[in-house]
Amino acid sequence: MLDTTILARFQCAGCGECCRWSGSVLLEDDDIRAMAEHLGLSEQDFIRDHTRLAPNRQQLALLDQEDGSCAFLAGNRCSVYEARPRQCRSFPYDWYVPQGCPALDRLLSSGE
Ligand code: SF4
Repeated sequence: MLDTTILARFQCAGCGECCRWSGSVLLEDDDIRAMAEHLGLSEQDFIRDHTRLAPNRQQLALLDQEDGSCAFLAGNRCSVYEARPRQCRSFPYDWYVPQGCPALDRLLSSGE
């Protein structure tokens, strides 16, 4: 986890880079409920149309676009932002990957 003084100064630049990483946006039950409701779908239809089995074979994950970005990324924006999954909401506060976010990288390299 990052230093709290760094996190206090972090501001998302809205570039969408974190939604373009290859990998999985893992879903919890609450995420599925919230996203289905946000999209006006039943949970069953949401699961059928927007998810796949994650590589861990224990959870569902959101579908990807052909370039590996999240299927819900539209331009640089999350099209389901208000109902985005916990994994997305908790970045970079609960977890992060090095060189994963230009705004965070600038903060970390500035050494301020
Ligand atoms: S759900 Fe939204 S915030 Fe999460 S990876 Fe997809 S586009 Fe990004």
